[in-house]
Amino acid sequence: MNVYTADGPGEWSLMRDPAPEAPSAVYEMECTTCGHTSGATEDAEAARRWAVRHVTGCPRHTGFREITHGFWRALPPESPDFSVTPHSRERPAANA
Ligand SMILES: [Zn+2]
Repeated sequence: MNVYTADGPGEWSLMRDPAPEAPSAVYEMECTTCGHTSGATEDAEAARRWAVRHVTGCPRHTGFREITHGFWRALPPESPDFSVTPHSRERPAANA
């Protein structure tokens, strides 16, 4: 598990978002000529197939930028337990 923490106590940490609904990555292809995009998808190959369809229709649009989105979660310094999701780390009330 990749966890990034600044040195010293009392620092926030950063980890890949463990939430089940968070995709590991989302991909998008963008034409560098006209700016049209594939739209975001979790299927990198689908984004690349869009680029092939785009250049087929616009043969002068041969440059593409691949954009990859990753999802991360910041954890406060008092929560060293990285094995649980942020939503389940809320402490119960003291008198509950
Ligand atoms: Zn284009």
